[in-house]
Amino acid sequence: MVKSFLIGTRNASPHLHEGIEVLRKGGSIMDAVETAVRGIEESTESGNVGVGGAPTILGDVELDASIMDGATLRTGAVASVSKYVHVISIARKVMEETPHVLLVGDGAHRFARAMGFEEWDLSTERTRMIGEAIAKDIAEDLPDDFRGKDYYVQAIKSQKLHEWYKRLSNEQYGTTNVIGMDSDGNIVVGVSTSGMSWKYPGRVGDSPIIGAGNYCDNRYGGVACTGKGELSIRLLTARMTIKYLEEGMSLEEAITKSFNEIHGLKETGTMQCIAVDKDGNTISASSARESTHWYMDVDMEEPEERPGIWVKAD
Ligand code: ASP
Repeated sequence: MVKSFLIGTRNASPHLHEGIEVLRKGGSIMDAVETAVRGIEESTESGNVGVGGAPTILGDVELDASIMDGATLRTGAVASVSKYVHVISIARKVMEETPHVLLVGDGAHRFARAMGFEEWDLSTERTRMIGEAIAKDIAEDLPDDFRGKDYYVQAIKSQKLHEWYKRLSNEQYGTTNVIGMDSDGNIVVGVSTSGMSWKYPGRVGDSPIIGAGNYCDNRYGGVACTGKGELSIRLLTARMTIKYLEEGMSLEEAITKSFNEIHGLKETGTMQCIAVDKDGNTISASSARESTHWYMDVDMEEPEERPGIWVKAD
């Protein structure tokens, strides 16, 4: 029997203990994952998550999130949320209170308001700086009144913007992933993000797409992704990795196969993921660099950093 634990990405590590505390007090693994992700969403230090997340080309922050329950395969998600910070909790409400899986934009705002969520201003100095960086860089492609009403039309035609997309480095991603497993083998996966920096308004990444950036099934394991969501959406990376576990591969073999598929797309951009299998083994992987993840169980005082794998292109 495994001890109940959480694993997370780097930006999750300062908040894993908040989820572990929930478990110590008798909360469920779903409560623990949600609590850890909420801590990350509220922090301005968490990169492309929650308040201070990376903006769209118009300078607004639009958040995506999802949560999945491996016992029942029930799941909830939201996308393009610009008025609320705790998108992981709104996603959970979508799962628990609606007949749906995914709510977006104004419909998600309306639902959040009805559920009593508090509105937040998601912009910070960092958001403004990132917004300015792209505006400045593409400005030379734009007419003098580039801040005017045609800015969007001009911006998406700008060669500079598309060069930015090709060059996007790991620093311009930064979704948070938290996976929890309790001592009965119940798995929950939570994912929250502002998505890719300088995305088009309305762009939705892999994080709220069940099967792409998030999937779990108690019988096999759980997977959550970060990186260029356009890749994992095309391959359904999270779901396929679970499928490979179902077919009998080890966690490392399953992840390696999924990441070889990412390389097979021969696209720019990188993927990362964290994962657990049904026995409580953990792993992380990257298509572009050394990879680590953070692990904390109910008997630990601090999370420990665990090495993962770097799946290189053949
Ligand atoms: N996977 C996220 C997306 O494509 C981005 C990230 O990981 O930061 O929206």
